Amino acid sequence: MAGDEIWYHGVGPERGGRAILIEDAAGHELGVLRHVVHHSPTGMTWGYAGSGGADCARSLLVAALGDRARCPECAGTQKIGYDRNARKDVPYDPSRPDDFEPETVGQCWCDDGYRRLPYQDFKFELVAKWGAEFRISRSDILTWLSMHADWEG
Ligand SMILES: [Zn+2]
Repeated sequence: MAGDEIWYHGVGPERGGRAILIEDAAGHELGVLRHVVHHSPTGMTWGYAGSGGADCARSLLVAALGDRARCPECAGTQKIGYDRNARKDVPYDPSRPDDFEPETVGQCWCDDGYRRLPYQDFKFELVAKWGAEFRISRSDILTWLSMHADWEG
């Protein structure tokens, strides 16, 4: 599996501005890490524990988890409601509004459609300590998550 490893590579200002590149095991660039905006609309940073570091940490966890980062209650839609047919709360589906009890449809208590991830801990333990440039693999992130006892994923 080592050949399939994905690396997240943060480059500093000396490389033309801060960016987090996604690279394969050979160092080839596959793309740029998507910024999942929550605390810091102006961008992701690292090497300190502020809001840009929080967004960096959260975006890395979301990227490493892929579909598993999505909130299981609302399936990422951020809305849930009581489905009369299924007889339980399910992700709200706007294409079949009549199946839902209208007064039960509401905002999901998740993080913008994502699971509540321990990204603040990830920030303090790792992101805040990184220098101008960093590299972390998807495996390293998933290992960190698996050792994080209070994460339910
Ligand atoms: Zn949700």
